[in-house]
Amino acid sequence: MSGPAELHDELERLRAGDRYRRRRVLDGPQQPETRIAGRTLLSFSSNDYLGLANHPDVVEALRAGAARWGVGSGSAHLVCGHSRVHQALEEDLADFTGRARALLFSTGYMANLGVISALTGRGERLWQDRLNHASLLDGARLSRGILRRYPHADAAALASLLDGQAARLIATDGVFSMDGDLAPLPALARIARDAGAWLLVDDAHGLGVLGRAGRGTLDHCNLDVAQVPILMGTLGKAFGTFGAFVAGSDDLIETLIQHARSYIYTTALPPAVAAATRVSLALARREDWRRAHLQSLIARLRAGVSQLGLTLGESSTPIQPLILGSSRTAVAMAEALEREGILVTPIRPPTVPVGTARLRISLTAAHTEAMVDRLLAALESASALAIGSRSA
Ligand SMILES: *Cc1c(COP(=O)(O)O)cnc(C)c1O
Repeated sequence: MSGPAELHDELERLRAGDRYRRRRVLDGPQQPETRIAGRTLLSFSSNDYLGLANHPDVVEALRAGAARWGVGSGSAHLVCGHSRVHQALEEDLADFTGRARALLFSTGYMANLGVISALTGRGERLWQDRLNHASLLDGARLSRGILRRYPHADAAALASLLDGQAARLIATDGVFSMDGDLAPLPALARIARDAGAWLLVDDAHGLGVLGRAGRGTLDHCNLDVAQVPILMGTLGKAFGTFGAFVAGSDDLIETLIQHARSYIYTTALPPAVAAATRVSLALARREDWRRAHLQSLIARLRAGVSQLGLTLGESSTPIQPLILGSSRTAVAMAEALEREGILVTPIRPPTVPVGTARLRISLTAAHTEAMVDRLLAALESASALAIGSRSA
């Protein structure tokens, strides 16, 4: 069978397995209290960790940027789409990360595809953590290299799998996107050096949140460009805007400009987005109170959840997973929370391994302590219901 009937059957299978995903239509900006389908829900699902996506100064910078630069960039960076404000943002990002150069990409997904496929050729070996973000895995596929995966956050296992052999590239999330835990970066840096491999750290969830002035997981672990030559960061999470970048040596960046196809063959970000990001980056660097507040919310949530007799995954970042097991339980729990006015999107396979469906609770600096307390109260009543439905 093929054609529409086949698609329909496959969709029915997803529904039956509680894996069907649907989008929600927001009627307002990204902020803790969001209007969805005529209701106001308190959201613990976004990656706007510092609460900058709807910051008035960032909104104003976008408006002023559009007045000055127009809306569309009109072209790829290498043709005529690379404006002065893109250049200025790249210089800001190089300064922020303490690296010689930074290169803007349109999205983090594209940055990972571009950097991995530019540096890895057919038949070369790449190693990746089992729980790496999909874009890192897809970059390996596109490169036609030989992808090997090692057990999650297990540097000793990687060393023994490598067994003294060389490798081309080792890639890892800095902070894992669905678990909130950190990669063992110092050990990975030593292994990469010994294997003669490039080390790529995707710090989508660490930048802005960890390290001095929000410099991210590498700063938190005291690692420099010699130990981690390739840093990828996204602008749509803690920085509250859109886009991504890779930071490293001058030769690395020039190589990406020449060879990264997802850089070359795509339209540059709207320059006004770059202008807004310059402002949000400056706020993220300067306003340490956002990180301090976030840490106090994390501590409050973890203490409260453990008082309820529930267990969160081991995480000190704003990503706090409540692992529930089956997709059915995760969906039931999310529905029960929603009845209490709380939005936490259930995360199911294939985004996470089978048997580890979860509520991925994420905190932002825009949440208040009272909001965390509302979540805790809702978790208490929802868990009674969802655990009831699990035994049913
Ligand atoms: C979100 C994310 C990406 C993709 O970034 P986008 O800019 O959203 O395309 C890449 N890696 C990780 C770890 C992410 O969480």
